[in-house]
Amino acid sequence: MSLAASAQPRRDWEYVEAWGMSSGGAARVIRPRSTEELQAALAAARAAGVRVAPRGTGCSYGDASTQRDGWVLDLTQMKQVLSFDPAQGVLEAEAGLSVRGAWQHILPHGWWPYVVSGTMFPTLAGAAAMNIHGKNNYRVGTFGDHIQEFDLVLPSGEVRTASRESNSELFHAAIGGLGMLGIFSRVVMETKRVHSGLMEVRGVSTHDLREMMEVFEAEKEGADYLVGWIDCFPGGDRSGRGLVHVGRNLDPGEDSDPAATLDVRAQSLPANILGVFPKSEVWRALRLFNHDAGMRLVNSVKYLAGRLEGMKDPYLQSHAAFHFLLDFVPNWKWAYGRRDRRGLIQYQVFLPKETAHDALIELLERCREREHVSYLGVLKRHRPDPFWLTHALDGWSLALDFKVDDLRRASLWEHCHNLTELVLAAGGKFYFAKDSVLRPQDVGRFLPAEKLEAFRALKEELDPEGMLQTDLSARLFQA
Ligand SMILES: Cc1cc2nc3c(=O)[nH]c(=O)nc-3n(C[C@H](O)[C@H](O)[C@H](O)COP(=O)(O)OP(=O)(O)OC[C@H]3O[C@@H](n4cnc5c(N)ncnc54)[C@H](O)[C@@H]3O)c2cc1C
Repeated sequence: MSLAASAQPRRDWEYVEAWGMSSGGAARVIRPRSTEELQAALAAARAAGVRVAPRGTGCSYGDASTQRDGWVLDLTQMKQVLSFDPAQGVLEAEAGLSVRGAWQHILPHGWWPYVVSGTMFPTLAGAAAMNIHGKNNYRVGTFGDHIQEFDLVLPSGEVRTASRESNSELFHAAIGGLGMLGIFSRVVMETKRVHSGLMEVRGVSTHDLREMMEVFEAEKEGADYLVGWIDCFPGGDRSGRGLVHVGRNLDPGEDSDPAATLDVRAQSLPANILGVFPKSEVWRALRLFNHDAGMRLVNSVKYLAGRLEGMKDPYLQSHAAFHFLLDFVPNWKWAYGRRDRRGLIQYQVFLPKETAHDALIELLERCREREHVSYLGVLKRHRPDPFWLTHALDGWSLALDFKVDDLRRASLWEHCHNLTELVLAAGGKFYFAKDSVLRPQDVGRFLPAEKLEAFRALKEELDPEGMLQTDLSARLFQA
């Protein structure tokens, strides 16, 4: 712990952890409610000479918004909607507003955020700082592609406004810039017209990865959303088997009562499963299966259920149910163990379309060989974007959830380093919101040198004392 940090009163120190629970540490947590309080907190940190990590809801799987023995600025109290134009769908909000707060405000007017993550809890600031992608990345790009303008509070307290036209460098660096250049305090973003609170969803069961990719390519033009679930256990000619969900927004007139389905109450996720079991307790049942044999069984059952789903007609589902499936079971991550430094990590690899298939097959094979099989595999299709530290490319990503336990922690990290070599050799990239395992030497092998250099120069200019720093940025950018 730094001298300055240890001199602070411990009253407001808390244990702040990664979403996946596999890392964390004590930090002094400050929760500003306005730009003035934020500026005061930055001034206090400057005077104390401490490192400060901006944090939203803490939904990054790894150490992206933790700060062991430093200060954490929790920005979730800055969450007011400042304006919304129901004719144009432009939302202006304080940046600590959650994705949930945003869609609940705009949906009754017939709008939906262009890009949402698999959970509705991230803040707009966290979404901007990581430049998140959705199940439609191949079609509409990333979160940053739909931001028109933002205010960034610099470590000095100065507020800078940036857009594509004004302060364009800052705009393209701070979006996806990991909170290292300043604190987002206000965001203006365009949203997408929807004509119903329901979507049409279709399941397509696939025998292997090749077939899954072919389904994506065939559906790409017509589908608003595409996401593939992969059973990572079987090898050979069943490697990469799974289920694709094809989502389509309804056209005007397809929903006979849009006012009813656009009502926020029509989007709520049911509290019970099969009308009986309280969802809040489901993680306890999942825990019984949270080992290789159990998860092999769960994945097989899911695959068989997917085969049946693939035979059914398309069905209607609310936006919330389609997008936020992972929120359906509250605290499902606890099934991975709630003890300190256990839990899970997510390891999401991005591969160019030319190398993706073979590299992913090899990667799944190595996971089976090393007996570190992911309990959940999710495939998405992506397109490039103009942001400096972007993870996106014209290709594919596969997100893998790995269980972390004391006995095999070191072996899991070594396994991921081995996979990283494979991905880098295939021209691939990584995504910091999901990272726990990259090493400093890996970063320069997937981010362009000129962008990294320009980013470092901007950091030096805006934050010469290096105040804004997270455990992730210290791990990857300080060495
Ligand atoms: C179940 C689950 C599903 C997910 N699905 C997806 C998905 O489909 N696609 C996807 O792209 N991501 C996904 N994510 C990741 C998540 O969207 C990102 O990690 C997002 O950044 C989390 O936002 P947050 O508000 O929780 O920010 P945090 O995790 O708290 O912070 C993320 C980053 O933002 C910075 N930051 C936070 N607030 C500010 C601020 N005001 N100003 C400047 N910097 C700030 C932090 O320093 C950190 O670098 C998922 C996460 C979970 C847990």
